[in-house]
Amino acid sequence: MPDVPIDLARLVDSLDECDLQTLEDAVGSRRCRERYGADKIDGLLEIWGHVPPCPRCGLREPLRDGATPQGRARWKCPGCGKRFSALTGTIFASAKLPLYKIVRIVEVMCHNASLRLIELTCGISHPTAYLWRHKVFSTVDSWQEKVVLSGRVWIDEMYFNDTDLLHDLGRKPRRGLSKDQVCVVVAIDAFKNVLVVASENGKPSTGRISAALEAHIMPGSTIVHDCERAHCALVRKLGLVDERYRANAADPEYLLHMELVNNLCSWIRRYVGRFSCMKSANLQSYLNWFVYLFRVRRDEEKWPAEERVVRHLALSEGVYLRK
Ligand SMILES: [Zn+2]
Repeated sequence: MPDVPIDLARLVDSLDECDLQTLEDAVGSRRCRERYGADKIDGLLEIWGHVPPCPRCGLREPLRDGATPQGRARWKCPGCGKRFSALTGTIFASAKLPLYKIVRIVEVMCHNASLRLIELTCGISHPTAYLWRHKVFSTVDSWQEKVVLSGRVWIDEMYFNDTDLLHDLGRKPRRGLSKDQVCVVVAIDAFKNVLVVASENGKPSTGRISAALEAHIMPGSTIVHDCERAHCALVRKLGLVDERYRANAADPEYLLHMELVNNLCSWIRRYVGRFSCMKSANLQSYLNWFVYLFRVRRDEEKWPAEERVVRHLALSEGVYLRK
């Protein structure tokens, strides 16, 4: 047996760059088949029984209609007559990357990889890594819309320098809380449901706190907060139960009762800190991804995170429009 690997190593050494790439693709595709059951996105959709909605009229019950010239399953809409493949209108529609590379991008994004790390681990260029990161983000853009918090709900705010604004103004951020900072409204309940919404710059008004949270809090919930006036107004407006602790890092009572939301804020701070080149305009997309992964990790014992995310992506109808 020992001479077999040596032969293989010699063979690999003898390959030119093009053949070596072919070999790498073959190995990547095989690993992908072993893990997910297919090495093409069509195959994955077939396995998961995905029936695409009509990209023109949105009707959800298309009929099978043979195959496209590329050999993909083709569908026909009984409503408007449009013919389309399962990939039409999805983030995979004009994908040039092999599936195993897309899967690898998603896998490393589950660990909050920087753009550079995505490039290195997936063997792709900087623009491709950028494009795919935003394609993946687009699949969770509306994910937070359905988040509902109930029971005990902790709320707080945190601030990040508005890098876009400061770049335009060409100066360093002012010290302390100011309009140079983007306010992010944060909420978490005892079931670890999480909501993270970028609001406008500076300290949030009552109206902005309401706009961010109102639709996401179940009637009868208890709001646990740090006495901020805008929080009190939200509690009154929605007729919620009020539980407040004056913010004071030296008060053990405050620290104990606000621990959950304080921890959440520090996780978010660490997460955002990894993407130092991020534009403030994209902050919400990054936050959506954070919240989505937070949920996936919460349920990880039931469902391995990477596989769940790959499935989400394949079945997602999110479309990334190049800005
Ligand atoms: Zn249609």
